[in-house]
Amino acid sequence: MLRAILVSLLLIAARLHAESPVYVALWFDTEDYIDPTADDAALRIANDLSAEGVRGTFKVVGERARVLESRGRRDVIEGLSKHDIGYHSNWHSVHPTPAEYMVKLGYLEGAKEFERREGPGVADIKRVFRRQPACYGQPGNSWGPQSNLALRRLGIPVYLDEGQQVGLREQPFWYGGILYVFQMGQNQFRADLKAGVEDTAANERFDEAAQRLSAAGGGVISIYYHPTEFVTTEFWDAVNFKHGANPARRDWVRPHARTAEDSERCFGILNRFVEHMKKNPNVRFVTATDLLRIYEGPLPRVTDRKAAAEALSRRIVFAEVQGRMQSPADMLLVLLGLDPAIVDGPTAHTETTYRGNSIPASAFGKTVTDVADFIRRNHRLPNEAFVGAYTLSLPDFAATLAGSVLNPGDEVRLERGNVQFESYFAKDPHKPFDWIIHPEGFDGGNLLELGRLQGWTLKPAVLVH
Ligand SMILES: [Zn+2]
Repeated sequence: MLRAILVSLLLIAARLHAESPVYVALWFDTEDYIDPTADDAALRIANDLSAEGVRGTFKVVGERARVLESRGRRDVIEGLSKHDIGYHSNWHSVHPTPAEYMVKLGYLEGAKEFERREGPGVADIKRVFRRQPACYGQPGNSWGPQSNLALRRLGIPVYLDEGQQVGLREQPFWYGGILYVFQMGQNQFRADLKAGVEDTAANERFDEAAQRLSAAGGGVISIYYHPTEFVTTEFWDAVNFKHGANPARRDWVRPHARTAEDSERCFGILNRFVEHMKKNPNVRFVTATDLLRIYEGPLPRVTDRKAAAEALSRRIVFAEVQGRMQSPADMLLVLLGLDPAIVDGPTAHTETTYRGNSIPASAFGKTVTDVADFIRRNHRLPNEAFVGAYTLSLPDFAATLAGSVLNPGDEVRLERGNVQFESYFAKDPHKPFDWIIHPEGFDGGNLLELGRLQGWTLKPAVLVH
């Protein structure tokens, strides 16, 4: 009898688990401001999705919003407005692109430059679509970590795109206080527009991913297109701005057009793919705005100092502490007695200059007060912590502080921080930036270096259950 009850309980648990929701983020980089047929393509996709009762996210380029306005395409603006609206940079492929203008800048000045160049595009999206864009995604793979700070200032809370620079378990994550859907690996694919009338292989791939994610407690599948792809056979920007080319506006050329029949076939492929996905009862389509609702927010509950100290002294990487996912920055704030807050990571790598195996507790107390004050004032972690004239690198400071919480005494033992979050970042400075629009051999090493430093803020996003 007991055995039978246990078996049926297990079966119920398995079934509940198997029915965890699978969220499909369907997004459209709405960027081609050269070819007016792309306006009709965007409207057609928006209307087709609306007819299916599905909402997607249209990430619109600033110049694209401006040309929709100047061409008098209220119909397109209204059609897209039935969906979520994101931001996809001000000029997309006109040089310098975001990675090009941020690559030689530090974290803070890069953020200011991003805000200077991208802020007016955000303002235009707001004016034309009468709403704040819900997300941002970089043009091509023109990524830089400085955008995180700027996006927070611009009030854009979600980063919805694909790229190889940073990723975490092929699912959404928090990074720099922004909810990232990025480097989704096997959870990012689409129905191929080259696939005849229907991409049945993509249907199968979708079924496999949906089943896998559902069985694992739920997750996100990321699918994207560009409306321009449905009406042209080559990219509008590759034919104009390839490898650093920057022709004058009067010399811009239109990409090669598809025939009307071929465009119809492409719209049909997407529609059939959407219909296929809709059949799965566990599937919910989510927009950038919805993503913020289905994930727990970035601020953790305050946890016990000792639990945070134990996690940080083992390794400096995100960890589940007392049932809540925490970034190393979250844990450091707990150790410092600060309230949970969104902060940036350090802006430079430093080496410890303090020579000695221990620090008098009174001197270390001053160090701790100073670091806490720096964070409260600047909303970012310092590059180093001063002990008199000498310094501890941030990882060594964090490990030493964690050690002092676990073993209080008159002398604080100097500990070395074991940083492990760097493995979530790309190392190759070329491949993640190999966009056809960037100059050949573009080196994004500096962006990756700054990005790794922001790994203090990295943690998996946790679905609200
Ligand atoms: Zn794009």
